[in-house]
Amino acid sequence: MIISNVYYNALIFGVATLTFVESTSMRTKYLTDKPQSSSGDSQYDVEARFALEKMAQEFYFGARDNSSEEWQRGTGRFINKERLDIAEESKNLMPIVVWQEKADEKTKMDEEESNMAEDKPKIVKEKNKMVEDKPKMNEEKPSMAERKSKIAKDKSKTAKEKMKMVKEKPKTVKGVNLKSPAMWQEEAMRFLAEEEPKMAEEKPKIVKGVNLKSPEMWQEEAMRFLAEEEPKMAEEANLKALAAWNYAARMTKKNKDKMDAANARSSTYERVQHERVNLFPRSIMSDPDLRRKLKKMSSLGISAIPDEQLLRFNDILVEMQDIYVSGKGCSYTEPTQYLNGVLASSQNPEELKHAWLEWHRVSGQRMRSLYAEYVELSNMGARLNNYTDASAQWLSLYESPEVQDIPKEVARLWKQLRPLYLQLHAYVRRKLYLKYGVSIVDPRRGIPAHLLGNMWGQIWDNLLNISQPFPDTPSPKVTEALKQQGFTSRKMFQVAEEFFVSLNLSAMPPLFWRNSILEKPTKRRRVNCHSSAWDFMDRKDFRILQCSDVSLRSFLTAHHEMGHIENFVLYKDQPPTYREGANPGFDEAIGDVITLSVMSPKHLKKIGLLSDDEHVESYESNINHLFSVALRKLTLLPFAYVIDLWRWAVFQGSVTPRNYNCHWWYLREKYQGVVPPEKRSEEQFDPGSKFHVAANVPYIRYFISAILEFQMHRHMCKVVGEYDPNDTRKPLHSCDIYQKQQAGTLLRRVMSMGSSQPWPEALKVITGSRCMDASALREYLLPLEHWLTVENEKTGELIGWEHTGEDRATSGGSGMTVAFIIFAVATFLHLWESQCWQLLTAAWSALRPNESVSPSLRHLVHTVEVQMLDRLTGSKNCSHLVMDQDAIN
Ligand SMILES: [Zn+2]
Repeated sequence: MIISNVYYNALIFGVATLTFVESTSMRTKYLTDKPQSSSGDSQYDVEARFALEKMAQEFYFGARDNSSEEWQRGTGRFINKERLDIAEESKNLMPIVVWQEKADEKTKMDEEESNMAEDKPKIVKEKNKMVEDKPKMNEEKPSMAERKSKIAKDKSKTAKEKMKMVKEKPKTVKGVNLKSPAMWQEEAMRFLAEEEPKMAEEKPKIVKGVNLKSPEMWQEEAMRFLAEEEPKMAEEANLKALAAWNYAARMTKKNKDKMDAANARSSTYERVQHERVNLFPRSIMSDPDLRRKLKKMSSLGISAIPDEQLLRFNDILVEMQDIYVSGKGCSYTEPTQYLNGVLASSQNPEELKHAWLEWHRVSGQRMRSLYAEYVELSNMGARLNNYTDASAQWLSLYESPEVQDIPKEVARLWKQLRPLYLQLHAYVRRKLYLKYGVSIVDPRRGIPAHLLGNMWGQIWDNLLNISQPFPDTPSPKVTEALKQQGFTSRKMFQVAEEFFVSLNLSAMPPLFWRNSILEKPTKRRRVNCHSSAWDFMDRKDFRILQCSDVSLRSFLTAHHEMGHIENFVLYKDQPPTYREGANPGFDEAIGDVITLSVMSPKHLKKIGLLSDDEHVESYESNINHLFSVALRKLTLLPFAYVIDLWRWAVFQGSVTPRNYNCHWWYLREKYQGVVPPEKRSEEQFDPGSKFHVAANVPYIRYFISAILEFQMHRHMCKVVGEYDPNDTRKPLHSCDIYQKQQAGTLLRRVMSMGSSQPWPEALKVITGSRCMDASALREYLLPLEHWLTVENEKTGELIGWEHTGEDRATSGGSGMTVAFIIFAVATFLHLWESQCWQLLTAAWSALRPNESVSPSLRHLVHTVEVQMLDRLTGSKNCSHLVMDQDAIN
């Protein structure tokens, strides 16, 4: 393989060179594109100066402990060799030069002092006094108001003393010849001992004055800054949210322009604020809350990229969502609803396949090139925020010490759940091949995606009618009950509100009912119907946008979205920085934890949606109920995992436009056991057929939320006495927390915290543990898992799936073709040398697929090719032969 190694190395060198050139030109472009400030200094100069000041400052104090004694030592001995290096670099930057000169003088004085020390006990005394006085200053820590007046007083005092000095000056001048150099130094020491503390007192006003402030002064300065800034932050967020809402509720050109303007304004504000926030040396501050707030504000998000690119980024997002919302397939006018409806209700495999293919054609496929550009700009923004790429920036929301901690954590949790998922998968696949035949559903392979009752195969509850474990035992017909009882969208939301109120949580504020859109507007207008909850950051306006119909699905979504509103209401008194869940999974989990109670037959009876005649408590009814929960909740987990696994890899660059779709199907098959209805190619872009991909919304939160939801449920049920692990009459799945105010108190506590504490602390409050744990979900579904295991054993199902054995998606594009040809030539030369004719024939067959060559030979060649392509693209390819079950986790 010498030839291919040479080729491989040359390719890597080429790619590295291109990357370097590209990144250099990007940086150059960024620097030249930066706007000029009005003062004449280029914006970049100002930024560079601040950056250097900050760098120097963090260099000295950043790694140290926060004690003021340490800091005093730092300020006292300002310059050392390493510092000079930094100062040298910045010789054109005035503040550093002045700073250096001052420090030089002080170093010189220090040296002379040590010579004088023995002869001058008086000076030593003075110095001791200074040292004694300094800790006293730090101990005092007066309140802000006190300090302000003190500063004002000292200011006038300093002015008076300066006048006094001016008056005394002639005397001093006259006395010149009478004093020895040592006496002058003594005089100067006394002067400095008096003046320095006053100078330092006055400093906090000057934000850019880096070096003369104590940690306490920095803290005060930061507190003043936040007190000024927080109302502005809320106001900016309010304007931005209003413009975004208006566009979502009425998607017109005019509203889009207004939204663009609001986004631009908000970005400008964020940039200015970001610059100021990053002047504060967080590491020397002892107040952990202050450090936390400043840290949260220190990342600029996508606003970090230059204006032109930012505008483009926002346009791309709007365009991708436009495609998603309004793409038209065939003659359908409402593709999203119509095609999703077909997926949900049809049992004709041809019709299902058509609807699936149509949707993927009119959504994802049309945004393929936009997505590549979006990835580039996202990564640019992340790098300007000091992240390696956008995946690291997304994961930073979880505040873990290492970027990879959350992916590892998710992998661990998935490992906990996978055995249960495999049982469910095998059982459902059996029901599907019994229905559609083994020619459509292979009993040993992944399930075709179009047969799962959902466009994305993420929730399988539409398969209930063909897969119910005990079909003769009736299950609650909630949708019918809602319709029969004349429920409207509004009524469903009122019932959801009543649940929260029964826990002593908040009722929806008046503006909620006035401003929300709870069903699709009847007038012909374009609305973004993806359900969403909105916080307008003014502490009173909270809304839901949901195109509800009267159904169990909409009823449960109403609880989910209202869970968001409860969050907004309960953390509204936190500063804007903390008005979000402890981590993004918490926000999602609150409403969902309520749905676990709402879905229970026990609760449905309580609220009159199920009668005793319709439902009798039994083993069979229990298994049926748990099966419906599993089809709604468990099936989402591998899908949620796949979406972000794919995006992390894309952002990290291990998956490129050349193998976007290929990698997507590789992951979907690997984790979900789902395959596309027909072979896909790189012309398509199937990830884009999912809203959250088009709309730039991270998805791993839904995975984490599902784990938290069951964990929270278990803990609350235990606290309210509805569940007892040692009492078989009180299993976890039959718990209903309705009207249990103790549970409400726990929820209130965790929601009120917002993100003011690291999420493990919030988790402790609501689950009693600081660790995420999937065992609660497993425990909830345990009776079902036992039943599924026995059932699958009875019918001899394969637990898991074999790989399809042929490419379900092929990597395409001209780049891949060139690589392929080079590979073929390399293989040819190599094989010529080693005279492996048989392999050569097979390789040729792989290049020109020929039915006369046996499949095993084609596979062999294909495997070699895949390994080669893996090396070229740095990622997995779709054409692994058989799933390595051990490698999955
Ligand atoms: Zn949500």
